[in-house]
Amino acid sequence: MTTEHPEGLTPRNTVRGRPRTTGAIQCARCGRNTGKTRASWPEGRICGPCFTVATRTHGTCPGCGENRLLPGPRAEEGGPRCAPCAGILHNFRCSRCSHEGEFYRRGTCARCALRDDLTALLLTSPDDPTTANRLVDVLCQADRPESIITWKRSGKVQGLLTAVASGQTPLTHDGLDSHRETAGRAADHLRALLVHHGLLPYQDPYLNRFEAWIDDKLRPLPSEVAKPVEHFAKWHHLRRIRAMATPAKSAQGPVHAAKQEITETIKFLDWLWQTHHRTAATCSQQDVDSWLTTGPTTRKAIRTFFIFAKKTGTNMRVEIGHYSAKGRPAIPQEQRFAWLKELLTGTSESLPYRVAGTLLLLYAQPLVRVAALRTDAININDTGAITIALGTHAVPVPQPFAELLRQHVRNRPNLRTASGADSPWLFPGTRAGHHLHPNTIMLRLRALGIELLGARNTALNDHLALTPPPLVADALGYSYQVAFLHADAAGEPWSRYVDRRTFN
Ligand SMILES: [Zn+2]
Ligand SMILES: [Zn+2]
Ligand SMILES: [Zn+2]
Repeated sequence: MTTEHPEGLTPRNTVRGRPRTTGAIQCARCGRNTGKTRASWPEGRICGPCFTVATRTHGTCPGCGENRLLPGPRAEEGGPRCAPCAGILHNFRCSRCSHEGEFYRRGTCARCALRDDLTALLLTSPDDPTTANRLVDVLCQADRPESIITWKRSGKVQGLLTAVASGQTPLTHDGLDSHRETAGRAADHLRALLVHHGLLPYQDPYLNRFEAWIDDKLRPLPSEVAKPVEHFAKWHHLRRIRAMATPAKSAQGPVHAAKQEITETIKFLDWLWQTHHRTAATCSQQDVDSWLTTGPTTRKAIRTFFIFAKKTGTNMRVEIGHYSAKGRPAIPQEQRFAWLKELLTGTSESLPYRVAGTLLLLYAQPLVRVAALRTDAININDTGAITIALGTHAVPVPQPFAELLRQHVRNRPNLRTASGADSPWLFPGTRAGHHLHPNTIMLRLRALGIELLGARNTALNDHLALTPPPLVADALGYSYQVAFLHADAAGEPWSRYVDRRTFN
C-alpha cells in the first residue's frame, strides 16, 4: 500500500497501530523515545513506525520533480523529497522489480517475495501451466502482497491453491464450491480475488447461499414433494435471479421472496402428500382451495408455483387468483351480519360449529387457528365478563357471543368419548389428544353456504376500517405485514387512519 500524497500531515498523527515504546533513543522525526531505531538519516535516527511511513509514501518530489518514493522529512517546505534530494543514502529499490519501498526479504519487495513463494509452491511441475500461471498472476496483483503471504501460510489455503493450480479443482465457481466443507473461507477469499480480476464471473453472495439453502430444504423431503419443488426452485427462481444479479443489483430481495414461495410450496405439497397421497401433478383445485381457506394468508405464496406448473405442463387444472383488491374475495357486509345472526341465534348447526363459525365471522380467524384454539385462550373473570386471546393480548367478547361461548366451554364435545375432561382444546376431536380438524369445520360451514375466505376478508376489512392495522394485527393474531396488506387491498391505507386520528 502506498500513500500518494502526504497532504501536509505530520508523522505524529499519521503513525498508527504500534504501542508507544520507551527507550533511550529519541526519534528525529516523531520525537518519541524508542529502544531501537531502523535507520540513520541526515536528520538523525528514525524509529520503526516513521521508517514504515517513509517507505510507503510515493509522489512527485518537490526537489527534482520525479515521481517516486519520498522518504524525506514531511515537515520540510513543499513536502517530503525523494531519497537523493533528501540526502538519504539508503537503497529502497527491489533488486528484482526496481519498485521503491520497504524490503520484505533481503533486497526484494513483498510482491517479489510472494511471487518467489508461489512459484515454488505452484509452478514447479504444473499439469496445467496456463491456469497455474494465471492463478499466480492474480495473487501477485493483490493490493497488499504482505496479506497474501500471511494468508497462504495456512495449510488449508495451500491445499486449495495446489488443487486449483494442478487442475484437480477446475477454476470455476463450482470448483471452489467443492472446497466449501474443508476450506470454505479460503475458497471464498480466492473467489473474491478471481472475480475482482475477471477470471470468474460475478456471483452474488445471497445467490450463492440460496443454492445451499435449497439443497438443505429438499434433503429431508420425500421425493414426491422434493422433485417438483426442486424443479421450481432451480428452474424458475435460481435461473431468473442468476440472470438479474449484478454487483450493482443485489439478489437479497429476490432471494428473500423466492425463499418464502418455496417454503410455502413445500408446506402445501408436503401436506397434500401426507394427507391425500397426491402430488403437484395430481393435485386438484379443491385441494388448493381448502388449503387456502383454512390457513393464514401467507399460504397464497403457492400461487407462483402453480403458474410455473401450468407453464411447464405439470398441472394444468389449478388456478389461483392474484392477490389484489379486485381478485380478493369479499362478501357484502350485510351478508356477513346475516350469517353472524344465523350462527348466534339460529339452530342450523350444533353449538361447536356455531362458535367456530362466529370466530371466523367476528374475529377474521383462519380455520386452522380456530381449530387449534385452547381453552386457556378464554378467560372468564369475577364479574362474568369474557375475554379471548387470539393475538398478543386478550380482547373482550361481546354479547350475545359471550353467552354462546360460555355454553360451549361448559359443554365441549367429544370429552367423554376420547379426549377426557382435561383436554386443552376448545374443540376436542374424536381422536384422543387431538383437536377437531380444520377441514371438518370447513366442510360443515361450507355446507351452510358460507363463503369462508370472502367472509374472513370482510370481517378483517371491518376491523381495519375502524382500527389501525397494527392494533388489529395484535388483537387478532395477524402479522403487521399481513394486516397492512389487507388494509391496502381493502382501500384502507394507513395514512387515512393518521388523518382521522389527527382531525376527528
Ligand atoms: Zn519516529
Ligand atoms: Zn527528488
Ligand atoms: Zn520487487
